[in-house]
Amino acid sequence: MEEMRYQIDLLKAMNQKLSDAERMYRLICDTSNNAFLYYSFRTGQVRTLGVWDRLFDFHIRDGKDVVKFYDIVDDKYVLPLRDTLYIEKQKLLSDSIQCRLKDSKTWLEFETDVCYDENGAPTDKIIRIKDVTKFKVQNEELTYMAYYDSLTGLYNRNYFVRILGDFVRRAKEEKAIVSVMFLDLDDFRKINDSLGILIGDELVQQVGQFLGTFRDEQISICHMNSDIYCIAIYDPCGDRSVEHIHQVIRKRVKEGFRLSSGQELKVTVSIGVAEYPEAAQNALELINCAEIVMFKAKNSGKDMIKYFNAPILNEFLQSVAIENKLKDAVYNENFVLHFQPQYYADTRRLRGVEALIRWRDESGKMISPVVFIPIAEKNGTIVPIGNWVIEESVRIFAEWKRKYGYPLILSINISAIQYKREDFVNQILGILNKYGISPGEIELEITESVLIDDLSEVKDKLHLLQEYGIRVSLDDFGTGFSSLAYLKGLPIDTLKIDKSFIDSVVEDDSSRIITESMISMVGKLGFETVAEGVENQEQYDYLKNIGCDVIQGYLLGHPMPAEGIEELLIHLL
Ligand code: C2E
Ligand code: CA
Ligand code: CA
Repeated sequence: MEEMRYQIDLLKAMNQKLSDAERMYRLICDTSNNAFLYYSFRTGQVRTLGVWDRLFDFHIRDGKDVVKFYDIVDDKYVLPLRDTLYIEKQKLLSDSIQCRLKDSKTWLEFETDVCYDENGAPTDKIIRIKDVTKFKVQNEELTYMAYYDSLTGLYNRNYFVRILGDFVRRAKEEKAIVSVMFLDLDDFRKINDSLGILIGDELVQQVGQFLGTFRDEQISICHMNSDIYCIAIYDPCGDRSVEHIHQVIRKRVKEGFRLSSGQELKVTVSIGVAEYPEAAQNALELINCAEIVMFKAKNSGKDMIKYFNAPILNEFLQSVAIENKLKDAVYNENFVLHFQPQYYADTRRLRGVEALIRWRDESGKMISPVVFIPIAEKNGTIVPIGNWVIEESVRIFAEWKRKYGYPLILSINISAIQYKREDFVNQILGILNKYGISPGEIELEITESVLIDDLSEVKDKLHLLQEYGIRVSLDDFGTGFSSLAYLKGLPIDTLKIDKSFIDSVVEDDSSRIITESMISMVGKLGFETVAEGVENQEQYDYLKNIGCDVIQGYLLGHPMPAEGIEELLIHLL
């Protein structure tokens, strides 16, 4: 009896322990967020556990029931899933598989484990089923971010470099060509500045979407950044040739893009092209070469395509070298000023001088401003250089005035970047004050590039200069966009007619007609006219006859060091 009671207690205790364990396992299963399919190789028992009911509206009672899964997963996953769900199978092709359901949203992961006894015979099998939709979506987003540019939907730079790398490797094997087109919208900054960044973005997006239409197996397109795109073409020919694609792009961007605001924006693009194997041997270098050539297209007047060649590369390398040396030159003030005399056409009396900068590099060689001023304007060194020119020229000018007392006008070239600085007028006034020069003795030569931006701001500054009595001259007149009608409202004192007109004035009827009407109208508007680049007597006589006021050019005097002007002044005494 005792013995029996003991046995019963023991059994109860064991049952209790078992059901505790069962409860514990159930709890673990239920809170793990997984559904489980259990199979016992020994008994053939199939059980479903965990959050099964949350994921499925069916149950699996034996091995044959697994076909129920095939109704809910996307067709393309049925075959691989069959292997995983073949319940009696011991060795699987893969122990983990992710499937999308027919709802096209949900992703499930099936993970299988098989347990073996000490003899290596399978005992149990567990298939864990988990809803991985959230991770999958996050993953897709990450993948998208890794490969695509969110604004345009085109490839991003990194992925493009990879694809271009693949193109180049393949081209090496197949002895093919790979072309890279580097595209940059013209005057995009102006659009951004005047219409706002949102409009700019919308334009970039629309252009990107249009460029995306070229995409195929052999053509890859990316949005590099800002308003820059790249197209890589494997084995370009026919409809896939650079020329053809360029024509299509050119036509499309000129038609204009309609923005959500209702505005229509027409643009032009500058394109640089570099080809494997001619220009470079790898993806990054190809892109660099194409970019360099694109700059060349920009500097040659925009809205055009340029192809890589060795001279362009050399020119670029030279400008990089100059850029590096220029910073030292600014620091060491390795510049000199030359002055070119200007004479009244009718009396041949000296009117004044134009200050023209030269850079003496470390070897003593003189570098022309035509070479380094554009670089200085690009990298900002024009500001200290320009300041130096103003102060140094005024200093020398003041010395002449003190020594010779001859009434002269000093003309100083001013870059748009300098002109636009807030402290510009005050700075000039400060320097004039320091050297005892009156504002009327100074003439600032500005180019039309100054006038292109915010016109009302430009005008305000011109009026301010005029109020102080500082003269303003419009340089290189006739090369840009300005019409005389447009000039009427501007407080300008002098127009400098560009050398290109003067060059053809004697031979060419049309430029003669333009120059004549220009000079007569300018006279009527009250501007003084200066002809620059006058090289021979014929030009001089002609210009004098049609009423041009002032002559400047090699005929009457080359630009010369300050001492040269002193010589002139001594003889005038
Ligand atoms: P620019 O203001 O149009 O200056 C006239 C240029 O034509 C000068 O070249 C001058 O030497 C040249 N020239 C004058 N007469 C003749 C002629 O009869 N025949 C020929 N073939 N050329 C003549 P330079 O000194 O090389 O200056 C070139 C340009 O560099 C200037 O053109 C101006 O835009 C810029 N520059 C020069 N100095 C400065 C400066 O201090 N500041 C700024 N921002 N730009 C400057
Ligand atoms: Ca000038
Ligand atoms: Ca000029």
